[in-house]
Amino acid sequence: MRIVLFGAPGVGKGTQAVRLCERLGVPHLSTGDMLRAARREGTPLGIEAGIYMDQGKLAPDALVLQIVEDRLEQPDCRQGFVLDGFPRTEPQAVALDEWLAEHGTPVDRVVQIVVAREVILERLSKRGRTDDDQDVIAKRLEQYERLTEPLIHYYTARGVMHAVDGLGTPDEVFERLVALCQ
Ligand code: AMP
Repeated sequence: MRIVLFGAPGVGKGTQAVRLCERLGVPHLSTGDMLRAARREGTPLGIEAGIYMDQGKLAPDALVLQIVEDRLEQPDCRQGFVLDGFPRTEPQAVALDEWLAEHGTPVDRVVQIVVAREVILERLSKRGRTDDDQDVIAKRLEQYERLTEPLIHYYTARGVMHAVDGLGTPDEVFERLVALCQ
């Protein structure tokens, strides 16, 4: 099962992605985690990505695509995966589709976790990550709404788009997610 998890920052996507991967026995591919790891290692890619991350901006598509495609080539991705935080722009979605089409393995489901904007703002302001200060939060939401949300239309047109209500306990949200990802 190849799944793309989708949602604004602060909807609980990362937590749900980890649980879903455990349940399905597939790897968790989080571009945010990959970029943070590259940054810690001090690679040129990590250093460049860090400049954007600190400002709440998306890293350049070419840079992110490089890191994702390297990861998708790994043998553990052959049985499926959960993509978390990727794709985030239309060029990323197109590149992912092309890569998957070449490998004969299209995306099975794209699932958006839906939470109201006010709730997201409240959650993010409590999280305490370095890219969670108020200006950066506002920028990340702006980037999401302008660049990532339009992907809903892209995937709806391809018949793979689903949504789950992200309000409730983590267990409740997880059960909704699992029901869609059988
Ligand atoms: P996340 O942990 O998914 O919230 O990502 C943290 C930060 O990493 C984002 O604010 C972006 O700066 C960068 N990032 C993660 N995934 C992507 C992506 N698919 N495209 C561009 N930038 C990304």
